[in-house]
Amino acid sequence: MFSAIVREFLLPLLVFLLLRSLLRSLFAALRPAPRAAQPQQAVQSGGVLKKDPVCGTYVSTTTAVTRTVDGELVYFCSRECAEKFRDAE
Ligand SMILES: [Zn+2]
Repeated sequence: MFSAIVREFLLPLLVFLLLRSLLRSLFAALRPAPRAAQPQQAVQSGGVLKKDPVCGTYVSTTTAVTRTVDGELVYFCSRECAEKFRDAE
């Protein structure tokens, strides 16, 4: 009786689980895991917020336009603002 249950139910289940985990690892190897891509995006859109001295907008250091002024890095929301800042100097 017990061996019949094993043969009819547990064995196919084990095979199914084994195949599923195999397929999963196969898919994970074939394409880059989306989980790995998310932290990169977070870093890109994240970073430290700096205030644009021209328009007052807060910009991320990772996406901002930067200019070195008196040896210090200044962050701007756009090239326009950076040029306005330079003109005002
Ligand atoms: Zn600006």
